[in-house]
Amino acid sequence: MSAADWYAHKSLGDGLFWIQERFYQSQNRANIWLLRGSHQDVVIDTGLGLRSLPDYIDAMGLLGKDPQRKNPLLAVATHAHFDHAGGLHQFQQVGVHSAEVEALANGDNYETVTWLSDREIAEAPSPGWRARHYRVKAVQPTHILQEGDVINLGDRQLTVLHMPGHSRGSICLHDGDNKLLFSGDVVYDGAMIDWLPYSHVSDYVSSCERLVGLVDSEQVDQVLPGHYHTFGAKRLHRIATQYIDKAGTCPAKLSTWAWSTVAGVALRASYPRSVC
Ligand SMILES: [Zn+2]
Ligand SMILES: [Zn+2]
Repeated sequence: MSAADWYAHKSLGDGLFWIQERFYQSQNRANIWLLRGSHQDVVIDTGLGLRSLPDYIDAMGLLGKDPQRKNPLLAVATHAHFDHAGGLHQFQQVGVHSAEVEALANGDNYETVTWLSDREIAEAPSPGWRARHYRVKAVQPTHILQEGDVINLGDRQLTVLHMPGHSRGSICLHDGDNKLLFSGDVVYDGAMIDWLPYSHVSDYVSSCERLVGLVDSEQVDQVLPGHYHTFGAKRLHRIATQYIDKAGTCPAKLSTWAWSTVAGVALRASYPRSVC
């Protein structure tokens, strides 16, 4: 199957594109965002990496261009999990938060939480392909991101907000001028996951408090999340507040503990030689 068949995309206007892996039919399928600037384009999250995402972007003519040249393209992962970072190795310019550089450089499939089954892949990317052989490939990031860094696209800027909790290197990218928030798995319109390796509940609460602050100070109009559909400021406020309220309760603590135990055992069984 060609890269052109593997993906689909939709323009959301104003240089923003949503890209999807058509044949990865799973709750874990992540949104891929492409944001064009006047001098540089950024792809935010990269999917599993089963087919070439840069080839697709190129073939579909999605990159911005001045008359002389196509824009350079930087791939940024909101965090190291396989559904977001699996395609990073396909790009020349790669940015991730410093806390997850090592996991990606080592191809640590325990920390990337790699979890894929044959039934989630509706059509094999190549003959004989099997999910059990899938791994996030090691990649050496060229851009090591920190809180407050600004990614300059020319006519628009993305500010890096370090928002640990779901994973230790989770980031949101904030386009303050346009009040857009690319939120990765820090927040989406579904159950938030705080029981994976390197999840941390009290960090997650702090990150949610920051999200509430962004809404209260009217810095976000639209959220472009790592999964599911986009939503607005009110919904962001509600989701973040609900997490903060629930995180301290006994049932929530118990279920986090139970899930993290199960996830840890299952992942260690799958990737026993991982560096972790
Ligand atoms: Zn994740
Ligand atoms: Zn995810």
